[in-house]
Amino acid sequence: RPKKQLGQHFLHDQRIARNIVGGLSGWGGYQQVLEVGPGMGVLTQYLVADGAYALQVVELDSESVTYLNAHYPALEGRVHYGDFLKLDLRSLMGEAPFALIGNFPYNISSQIFFKVLEHRQQIPEVVGMVQKEVAQRIAEPPGSKTYGILSVLLQAFYSVEYLFTVAPGVFTPPPKVQSAVLRLRRNERQALPCNEKLFFTVVKQGFNNRRKTLRNSLKPLNLPKSVREWDLLDKRAEQLSVDDFIRLTQAIEAP
Ligand code: SAM
Repeated sequence: RPKKQLGQHFLHDQRIARNIVGGLSGWGGYQQVLEVGPGMGVLTQYLVADGAYALQVVELDSESVTYLNAHYPALEGRVHYGDFLKLDLRSLMGEAPFALIGNFPYNISSQIFFKVLEHRQQIPEVVGMVQKEVAQRIAEPPGSKTYGILSVLLQAFYSVEYLFTVAPGVFTPPPKVQSAVLRLRRNERQALPCNEKLFFTVVKQGFNNRRKTLRNSLKPLNLPKSVREWDLLDKRAEQLSVDDFIRLTQAIEAP
């Protein structure tokens, strides 16, 4: 029986499952794939059949782990029982690049993307299903209502594609909302041309109160006087592009 607290909604449409797995493009030349939350293996079966990648899966539900071990002998030693958010990616995946895939548990999808950001050097591609609203938020350009912290941070390092929308009826049990599949492919940027920690702080602080102008929302950062006079600060965070945030960070660092 699906467990609500684990965000379990099992996909039962094989065509959609194939299309999700088909979203992996090999971008960045990885040979390993990590699947988050395989459940009963609806995506896993195609990843195994494909055989193109060395596959590891991590699942927090012990019943699903037992099921996967019984039904997919090819996965022997590759099914890890545990919480993806606590997983030590280095010890599981080594140093080689890998892609992340999954029909993500929706209650932790933002945290999954924050973990991707932390490990972006090793993750050139992500294909994931999330709530449609979250997918839109991540994929939207500046100026739109749903553009937010994750959009800026992810778009700084990845090009984000909204692949397709998925209706609730193809899951057991059906979720209350629509879902969507995203693909992230890392851009050529190795590092930001500014202090990254400060960049993250500026973005988070800027969106803290998205109705305020940046002049107000960034007050706690004690901006240098020359920066406070910038016209850019009359705008709201949702109006700034990644490059605007970079320029702002540079100006704060070296006023
Ligand atoms: N991949 C399956 C499918 O498409 O039918 C299941 C998808 S379901 C939306 C999310 C899965 O993630 C569930 O199997 C759940 O047990 C698992 N899960 C929830 N939290 C997790 C976590 N922190 N780490 C790893 N797996 C988790």
